[in-house]
Amino acid sequence: MNFDLTEEQQILKQSVKRFLEKEIKPCADEYTEKLIPKDMAHDLIKKLIPFGYVVGPFPEEIGGMNMDTISQGILFEELFRVFPGLGGIAFITMDTALTLYEYGTKEQIDRFIPKLLSGDYIGCVAVTEPDIGSNPSEVKTRGILEGENYRVNGQKIWISNGSVSDVCVVLVRTEKDPGKKSVSRLIVERSVSDYSSRDLGKLGLNSWPTSELFFDDTLVPKENLLGDVGEGLKSTLRTFERARCFVALYSIGIAQASVDATIQYVKEREQWGKPIGQHQMIQDMLADMLIELDAAKLLTYRGLYLIGKGARCDTQTSMAKYYATEAAVKITSNAIQIHGGYGLSKEFPIERLFRDARMLTIPDGTSQIQKLIVARNTLGLAAFK
Ligand SMILES: Cc1cc2nc3c(=O)[nH]c(=O)nc-3n(C[C@H](O)[C@H](O)[C@H](O)COP(=O)(O)OP(=O)(O)OC[C@H]3O[C@@H](n4cnc5c(N)ncnc54)[C@H](O)[C@@H]3O)c2cc1C
Repeated sequence: MNFDLTEEQQILKQSVKRFLEKEIKPCADEYTEKLIPKDMAHDLIKKLIPFGYVVGPFPEEIGGMNMDTISQGILFEELFRVFPGLGGIAFITMDTALTLYEYGTKEQIDRFIPKLLSGDYIGCVAVTEPDIGSNPSEVKTRGILEGENYRVNGQKIWISNGSVSDVCVVLVRTEKDPGKKSVSRLIVERSVSDYSSRDLGKLGLNSWPTSELFFDDTLVPKENLLGDVGEGLKSTLRTFERARCFVALYSIGIAQASVDATIQYVKEREQWGKPIGQHQMIQDMLADMLIELDAAKLLTYRGLYLIGKGARCDTQTSMAKYYATEAAVKITSNAIQIHGGYGLSKEFPIERLFRDARMLTIPDGTSQIQKLIVARNTLGLAAFK
């Protein structure tokens, strides 16, 4: 087992860190509690692309960088640390492009990938509905084939990037007969097949749009079916493997930011005539934070390594997602405790990091669902279908 970064990966980490601190952090500070406007999101993504954001995993022939999954992890961990909202927009756009690349026809790849990899298009993936969360096989949004188009009717909720998206991969029921189940995916291009959106107010991650999407007799050309009819659920579940690792990275970035701030604070803040970092119970809390963060990183980078190998790794990515997101909640909570009253103040970043971390135990499968996957895969006994 080799835990060392290659020389190239070390250089990437240092150069992207410098770039993000100088070019992206000032904007991050301005947009901690307000949504990143769409035009700004496009501009910032275009600035990130030369480092490998969004384009990293794709082959060079189509504008990618053939980047290994560990390097992709390094890039996103750093961005989530500095500007979680922008990291979310960039990651979901990359994930949309990967989904289209993996399951799309040549024609679909030629039509959509260049727009996503240039930052001209922002992507999103719409599965969740007001009544359907942990069990996507029950989605109610309908996409019924009528001549040359699918007619889409229904509502999606909690869709990351929803309001700023230009293209959306939507999970719909495609069966005509209500007695039969057929869940498929459609590529809905907003300029062609309009859908409306409304942003949701939420506890944290307030610069990142999370939206309701409304499909009201939206006509989607039949050539925009992604994969085969009835294959939508299986392929959606498969893409969760990668997404869960990136949600874990998201938590690690946020937790790292709170650890960095805490280390600085405990050296500067004095009580009883010495830095609080010299009090044993502060060291106890700080040690917990450091150990949990390291364990989260090890699980997550193992998941990324397995994804890079093309191995089936839903057990390992569920472990990473569960552990990293729950650890980030504990780590950012300890950071508040160590900062005392200042940890609760809106004038310090600490309370925001706690609220941001708290958002991530829910998406891409709640902590409970991750545990059920780990136990099911180990026992061969499913507690859910
Ligand atoms: C920040 C954020 C971003 C998101 N982005 C997207 C996105 O881009 N696209 C998208 O489609 N969705 C997105 N979601 C939605 C997310 O995937 C769902 O919220 C999640 O799957 C849980 O569904 P739910 O909220 O309806 O909860 P429910 O499924 O109603 O669950 C409620 C509670 O019941 C528990 N539960 C459910 N089933 C079981 C079971 N079988 N056994 C034990 N406990 C169970 C859950 O763990 C939870 O505690 C996002 C959510 C958030 C918060």
